[in-house]
Amino acid sequence: MSQPIRVRYAPSPTGLLHIGNARTALFNYLYARHHGGTFIVRIEDTDRKRHVEDGERSQLDNLRWLGIDWDESPETHENYRQSERLGLYQKYIDQLLASGKAYKSYVTEEELAAERERQEAAGETPRYINEFLGMSEDEKAAYIAEREAAGITPTVRLAVNESELYSWTDIVKGDIEFEGSNIGGDWVIQKRDGYPTYNFAVVIDDYDMQISHVIRGDDHIANTPKQLMVYEALGWEAPQFGHMTLIINSETGKKLSKRDTNTLQFIEDYRKKGYLPEAVFNFIALLGWNPGGEDEIFSREELIELFDENRLSKSPAAFDQKKLDWMSNAYIKNADFDRIFELCKPFLEEVGRLTDKAEKLVELYQPQLTSADEIVPLTDLFFEDFPELTVQAKEFMAGETVPTVLSTFKAKLEAMTDADFVVENIFPQIKAVQKETGIKGKNLFMPIRIAVSGEMHGPELPDTIFLLGREKSIEHLDNMLKQL
Ligand code: GLU
Repeated sequence: MSQPIRVRYAPSPTGLLHIGNARTALFNYLYARHHGGTFIVRIEDTDRKRHVEDGERSQLDNLRWLGIDWDESPETHENYRQSERLGLYQKYIDQLLASGKAYKSYVTEEELAAERERQEAAGETPRYINEFLGMSEDEKAAYIAEREAAGITPTVRLAVNESELYSWTDIVKGDIEFEGSNIGGDWVIQKRDGYPTYNFAVVIDDYDMQISHVIRGDDHIANTPKQLMVYEALGWEAPQFGHMTLIINSETGKKLSKRDTNTLQFIEDYRKKGYLPEAVFNFIALLGWNPGGEDEIFSREELIELFDENRLSKSPAAFDQKKLDWMSNAYIKNADFDRIFELCKPFLEEVGRLTDKAEKLVELYQPQLTSADEIVPLTDLFFEDFPELTVQAKEFMAGETVPTVLSTFKAKLEAMTDADFVVENIFPQIKAVQKETGIKGKNLFMPIRIAVSGEMHGPELPDTIFLLGREKSIEHLDNMLKQL
């Protein structure tokens, strides 16, 4: 293949960056980078009804956050938004009108709706039936004149060759065929508002930008024959197509839907919760693709190196939130402390916990975090009121030796100065209690833990005591002793 590789991600700025679209962007990116090609971002903003203010910026910002970059986009190239390319579409529409491969259609929305209703009632598949069918040239001219006089704005339709077979070899799915007669009849390429339809504009753009491979979600499969018709009508060679498999929710087994509340589906959500972008990148790269083998953790560079379009899966990709969280934790655990601290800071700050002990807290919990926002509930213990003991904890505190342990340890803490009170000095004090009382193991550690923190589990006991502070620990020990 001598044609240079040029691929594109072509979002419609109709909302936030969804995980499915992010995957499309990411596979195009990997494909381009692996093959030394060009990756283009083009904005498909011709659907003015669904247009969202700031949709484009949100798409680009979230892609950037993921670590995806591109070579051409509206930021650096003129006319990379469809709304800026109307003149170009008009040029080709005029060309198709002149050659008779397209025509103006005066049928009204009401007429179309009535026809659709009739077809549905008769059990027929809805399709457009050529409005000029059976008309003589004179009748046709009179019909057009009458409708124009009535102020009806026409659409432009592409004349479909019903007897043709439209086929391509899909990079992902293999050979695919559509019959021209199954398209729904001559279809609209230019709407009444003068805007091109998606299926038309996308071809003009892909051709104009010399796109070599169109890699997109398989919700676009049924659009491909229509697009092939436009290539054919204009005498252009079509690019290669690859349609990536559906993403299903691993819990429901159904197509991932924006209504699934058990999953976070927008990249923005991950960003806001303080996930690491490379973890999300890694996870998305394995949605419908894998390099073979057991490994699952890959850096961006490794993924670029390993990417192979022949390994794009034909079967649906399962979106498994638990797997994502596992992966995210693996990344956070191994990340530099400074980075994780920075990530946690805004969450701690928001609840007034960015104290001089904040670094120590983050250090303590870094290995447990899935996302930075979790630092808040994990550190409740140090900031909230003393919790209600569980039944199990209460049972434990009923033990015979508990008061001795607590009072001895309390005395040790009281004897310490604030200068002595550093993490390294706390464990020796617990050991001193053991030496003095002869009580050891669980009977030594657990009562202290429950008395100071109210919990049976938590970070290392000396860390917990240090973070609570000397006075607070003494106060908690005291309260517990009074209760016993
Ligand atoms: N704007 C279309 C979408 O967001 C792009 C389709 C394509 O890649 O051809 O689904």
